[in-house]
Amino acid sequence: MNSADSEDLARRLLAAGYHEDSLERADIAILNTCVVRQASEDRVYSRLHELKEWKTAERTIAVTGCIVGKEGDVLRGRFPQVDAVVPIGEYEDFLASLEARYDYSQGEALPQAGRTGISHYVRVIQGCDHNCTFCIVPKVRGRERHVPMEDVVAECRQAVADGAREVVLLGQNVDDYTDPTGRGGLANLVREVERIPGLKRLRFLTSHPQDLEAELLEVMAASDVVCRELQLPVQSGDDTILKRMARGYQMRHYRAIVDQARTLMPDIGLVTDIIVGFPGESEAAFQNTRALLEEMEFDVVHLAMYSPRQGTFAASRMEDDVPHEEKLRRLNDLLALQRGIAARKTARWIGRDVEVLIEGLDELNRPYGRIRQGKRAIVLRSGDAAPGQLIQVRVLQATAGQVLGVLNPAKSEPAA
Ligand code: SF4
Repeated sequence: MNSADSEDLARRLLAAGYHEDSLERADIAILNTCVVRQASEDRVYSRLHELKEWKTAERTIAVTGCIVGKEGDVLRGRFPQVDAVVPIGEYEDFLASLEARYDYSQGEALPQAGRTGISHYVRVIQGCDHNCTFCIVPKVRGRERHVPMEDVVAECRQAVADGAREVVLLGQNVDDYTDPTGRGGLANLVREVERIPGLKRLRFLTSHPQDLEAELLEVMAASDVVCRELQLPVQSGDDTILKRMARGYQMRHYRAIVDQARTLMPDIGLVTDIIVGFPGESEAAFQNTRALLEEMEFDVVHLAMYSPRQGTFAASRMEDDVPHEEKLRRLNDLLALQRGIAARKTARWIGRDVEVLIEGLDELNRPYGRIRQGKRAIVLRSGDAAPGQLIQVRVLQATAGQVLGVLNPAKSEPAA
């Protein structure tokens, strides 16, 4: 969601005549912030301290993103070097203030590294109506606002016309999507978007186990465009902890969804989030989460230690009773476990042909992209595979996080 916000603001700035440059040469630095964990918030403060040196009377520092809803007033008081505190999505006044200040039409534009436009993020829901007890998102992003289906489809169509080959539909809880004009939920939206001529891939994230509907899995399974990847945060493998988190489901339900998804799409990529050390997490509860990892064999697990976020139910009403060292031990234990699982799982791709959408070149000048199941892929001896091209790759090697293989030209799309 933050990447989508950054892209949105960058697009507006580029359209207004600004260009990206190195910090040393730039007039304006904009920090798009995340406060989902204390560590992310601390990074914002340390970055602002670093920028003190950079700041001059002619230069502008702006802060946007989730920290604005949480600590906007604190920022203004504590960091006088900050010129603008910009709420998410409310960029008009900020852009007007820049326009009054800078003659941005001068200067030589640099190539826009990394901005290939192959994949386009489309927000379909802003905010979240859930109230998970650990989560700051509803406070900083507000309640759900659903974008009309017609507007989503129009944006996707435009993105494809502008060269995008993949669109990613975004919502904090994307499964909750309902068209405000009565045209149905996420499954219908996906059906509409996947029909757009020229669109090669469609992803959506993030799903919620309480809201994901069987119909959506069926649409995925029947489609050549919708990618076979599900981002389905479980957060804990223990029912007592799930209840304390107010997640709204039990493990029995989570298992049933994964079973159904894997029955329909045996090779589906499964990504999850887990928090260790949530208040009240006993050793037995932690072991249930550990056992879940072994049982489910997720492709990717985003692991985090619980940190109380001011303004959440857990921070105000639950004791943060798992000591830091113990949280760290649990985190490291799961990291090591998952590393082994991911390595074993990724190795199963060796010898298979996979479709890769090329996104760019890595630091060794090798084309990279992702397979339909979400895994990163590196193309060795690629010929001239170019960003935006869909190619077939025979997988020769694998690590925990990626597959490496060679181009199969007979089955690949010709370079544009
Ligand atoms: S569903 Fe996700 S975004 Fe919404 S409150 Fe729960 S964790 Fe936060």
